[in-house]
Amino acid sequence: MPTQSIDPAPAATAVAQLTDCPLCGTHLDPAHPTECPRCDWTQGYRRQREKPVGNARDIAAVLLTVVPGLGHFYKGHTTLGVLVLLGGILAVFAAAVAATATMGLGLLFVPVYWVAMMLHVFWLEDLRMPAR
Ligand SMILES: [Zn+2]
Repeated sequence: MPTQSIDPAPAATAVAQLTDCPLCGTHLDPAHPTECPRCDWTQGYRRQREKPVGNARDIAAVLLTVVPGLGHFYKGHTTLGVLVLLGGILAVFAAAVAATATMGLGLLFVPVYWVAMMLHVFWLEDLRMPAR
């Protein structure tokens, strides 16, 4: 397996206008300029978060997750938001079915799912973070 010299891009590089992969130098597909067709580089590699985890938007996303999926929408993860919402509906049905078989224990599905999604959205990257 051939090895390549890895020369990471400086943090200040404007990744949006790259035409070559900053890791391996492969010409990027103009239709997909945010990921390298040859190595694992994607846009945002080694980019630091604008603000630390736990800012006001993270808290707001957690509060919006009262309706599962809404916090994911808020952070810009639309597809994931739909899946989380469907998962929430599924969790309610699963809890109802399991509750009859487990004498109520199955009802724990719902709060467990709820808390898991709130934790997930808290740590999720915020795609709609306003630029400083
Ligand atoms: Zn590459």
